Amino acid sequence: MIARSFDGWQSWSWQQQLSGAIRHLDELLALLGLDPATAPPELAPALAASQSFSLRVSHSWLNRIRPGDWSDPLLRQVLPLATELDPWPGYSDDPLAERDSNPLPGLIHKYHGRVLLTVSSACAINCRYCFRRAFPYQDNRPGRDGWQAVLDYVARHPEIDEVILSGGDPLAANDATLASLARGLADLPSVRRLRLHTRLPIALPARIDDALLDWLTGTRLQPIVVVHSNHPRELDQEVAQALQRLGGAGVTLLNQSVLLRGVNDCVDTLARLSLALFDHGVLPYYLHVLDRVTGAGHFEVSELRARELWQRLGQRLPGFLLPRLAREDAGARAKTLLAPPSEAPEP
Ligand SMILES: *Cc1c(COP(=O)(O)O)cnc(C)c1O
Ligand code: SF4
Repeated sequence: MIARSFDGWQSWSWQQQLSGAIRHLDELLALLGLDPATAPPELAPALAASQSFSLRVSHSWLNRIRPGDWSDPLLRQVLPLATELDPWPGYSDDPLAERDSNPLPGLIHKYHGRVLLTVSSACAINCRYCFRRAFPYQDNRPGRDGWQAVLDYVARHPEIDEVILSGGDPLAANDATLASLARGLADLPSVRRLRLHTRLPIALPARIDDALLDWLTGTRLQPIVVVHSNHPRELDQEVAQALQRLGGAGVTLLNQSVLLRGVNDCVDTLARLSLALFDHGVLPYYLHVLDRVTGAGHFEVSELRARELWQRLGQRLPGFLLPRLAREDAGARAKTLLAPPSEAPEP
């Protein structure tokens, strides 16, 4: 179903909101009252960029974008730009070499003691900086037998005590699939924690309903949900309710952000994000520097500047609201934490 009008989406089911997301550049710009002829050169939108990685924006996300503002931080995260097609040295389709740690369809085993299951290839919004924007999802559709093979793999590796549902967005999968996977994992004695890395509580908060809370909190596994928010304006009333429901059901809530030029590369924005997250029961966990995926170069913030921002952030916030500044290195068994800039030259 393609929604042509903006009104009425609040009464849609989450499935309708997911399948009815905006997919056309013209429609997005029209709904926001933006005339492409008025775009600043560095923010020129481009249909061609959305051909290699499609445009996708949920109505809930759209509702939080300021109409008529090209530099809106939420718009920037989803708007396909002409500059994505420029060559950026050092950028590639698989910056984290995940294809080397993909022993079975649906399973990525790169971290020590943890595996990632790519449960769904879909998302509620397509983030232009996504490091999996070129991930070969078509080769990672396990099907029923495939999921049994994944469970068998986890059973053969008793050092794995945490399973991370990932994607795409794992919550784009339906509850029956997820509930059956959660039961299968709970039957493996060495697995203790079930973690979800999901942007749906932020990008499509209607997803957080009773059916989801039932399976997520209905096994012996400790549930952890890592949401992904980059800017305090993402956290509106609808999102706040979804987060409070998760927290109220006993789910540990963490947030991971990506440091993005033009979106959140500002101490004040990052501080407000941490405070707003904690207002809704979420602890800031990671602040990531960008993964160098083709098409995302215009979002890069240098590591030197990232460390400087992070240090200033640490002067403003209590320690528990300061996310870990981290980088993901291809082939590494864990993230690399970026040290404070004491040894760096003065900027
Ligand atoms: C870092 C990361 C993980 C693993 O996180 P840890 O807390 O370091 O185990 C899982 N999924 C994504 C998308 C990540 O970026
Ligand atoms: S929601 Fe996550 S997986 Fe989906 S496009 Fe955005 S960053 Fe990528």
